Amino acid sequence: GLAGKAAVVTGSTSGIGLGIARAFAGAGMNVMLNGFGDASEIERTRKDIADEFGTTIAHDGADMTRPEQIAAMIERTRAEFGRLDVLVNNAGIQHVAPIETFPPEKWDAIIAINLSSAFHATRAVVAGMKAQGWGRIINVASAHALVASPFKSAYVAAKHGVLGLTRTVALEVAEHGITVNAICPGYVLTPLVEKQIPQTAKARGLTEDEVIRDVLLHAQPTRQFVTTEQLGALAVFLCTDAGASITGTALPVEGGWTAQ
Ligand code: NAD
Repeated sequence: GLAGKAAVVTGSTSGIGLGIARAFAGAGMNVMLNGFGDASEIERTRKDIADEFGTTIAHDGADMTRPEQIAAMIERTRAEFGRLDVLVNNAGIQHVAPIETFPPEKWDAIIAINLSSAFHATRAVVAGMKAQGWGRIINVASAHALVASPFKSAYVAAKHGVLGLTRTVALEVAEHGITVNAICPGYVLTPLVEKQIPQTAKARGLTEDEVIRDVLLHAQPTRQFVTTEQLGALAVFLCTDAGASITGTALPVEGGWTAQ
């Protein structure tokens, strides 16, 4: 079983990462949280998960734009938990703007946080996973790893890149008991999506209500937001023995978006 296994979930002080961290703790895993936020709120989140599920939960504030901080977080997890079995590359940001006015510094930040951080973290965990003959790497990509939407050039480019990284590393580690997969969520009502509603309204000349109805939920035939619980449950499944033959895949959890 998964009890006692150790996971790092990047960007888990909020949203999808937090949902995955909670699901992992529910499966008996020890979890290194990561991400920004108010220190006392993060500590409350950490303690709540630890109290609810009785596993060891810690937090590392590594900035995903900083390769040396990513490596230090991986080392710290190994030192504190005595092992590292699962890596979830989830930290991500969004910016919505037409290409002509897309701020170059937003492009650089999105490529660094949404794509390069997954390279740096994966690079740091693979040797240890190979040595123990078991590992799971889960990249939280997006439906935007499979299809595009206008005004999200950096995000769509980064997420397509994450899928390329997923497939490549899956092939490299396939004989070592390590799987590498990309989960591709549709819209989840997290702070990341809440923040882009006004930006999208501006870029498309719509009201915020129209953005929710005619852009976000329009993309998803279910007309429902995906939930963090659904994504957490899939991440847990990928970590079980039943998931051992699933590798190098893009797993859409997007209410039928990419079936259209
Ligand atoms: P969120 O804003 O709720 O959470 C993002 C997390 O990343 C937070 O914990 C934040 O502190 C952390 N973070 C941001 N910049 C960081 C940095 N430089 N270093 C370390 N941590 C950093 O967003 P979310 O919606 O939960 O998104 C999580 C992932 O899911 C992202 O990769 C996002 O692209 C992806 N995703 C989200 C949706 C959606 O609809 N919400 C859909 C598909 C994919």
